[in-house]
Amino acid sequence: MPLTFLAHQAPVLPLKRWRPELDGTAMVVGTIVPDMARAVPPRFALIWDGRPIWWDGHAWGQALTGGLVVGLLLTWSARRLVLPRLAGYLPDLGQFHLRDLRLLGRTRHPWWIVVLCLAIGSITHLLIDLVTHTDRGVVLPGLAVHLFDIAGRDVKVATVLQVLASVGLSVFTVWEMYDIGRRRLISRWSGVEVPVPALTPSNRFAVRAVVVVAAGFSGLVGLTRVSITPAVGLMTSVVVGWVALCVIAAFVRPASDA
Ligand SMILES: [Zn+2]
Repeated sequence: MPLTFLAHQAPVLPLKRWRPELDGTAMVVGTIVPDMARAVPPRFALIWDGRPIWWDGHAWGQALTGGLVVGLLLTWSARRLVLPRLAGYLPDLGQFHLRDLRLLGRTRHPWWIVVLCLAIGSITHLLIDLVTHTDRGVVLPGLAVHLFDIAGRDVKVATVLQVLASVGLSVFTVWEMYDIGRRRLISRWSGVEVPVPALTPSNRFAVRAVVVVAAGFSGLVGLTRVSITPAVGLMTSVVVGWVALCVIAAFVRPASDA
């Protein structure tokens, strides 16, 4: 895997800039959900008619069925609950203008655009994984070639590609986030022509403190599963953390200008 965050988001940000009518939130969520399936303990796998539809997020059939259902839930909770209510509490980070994320809830897309964009995000994820893995159904020629050993671990062409892709794509994503922030594109895409500075929200200290406690708790829950694999631990933290953010957001009023 190139890293779930921020490497996998690299292909969809330029797509959103090229076609602003696409649903950027859904595309970003789509790039995350294939890896999220790692957090699913077997007893919570979605089964349909005796077959798993949400258990292995990297199986194409599951990514484009159960993955879409999970993706719809995530997109809805991000756009209607978490971002409009909590993004105003983020540090704005200068030119990144992270607080503009609170405006994403203003956007409405037809349902089929949301589904299409989730699928686009997931397909880019699976394609990137395909060219950097040797444990998938299709292994591209040359990927499994052994290069050298580090501390007894076999380093293949694919391993080097994964590291290069993780670093290169993550750097590109950060640069895209910077450029989108600098140009205030989220404001424009959300129908706010003249971007205004986000108001400093009330109860800032209390809300941030609760979020930090929730993040610590999610991290601890993830740690209990790191022994399976580090990726399972990370994705468990992400899922627990997201549920916690939804609960916190339910108790916070949306920013007055969201
Ligand atoms: Zn993956």
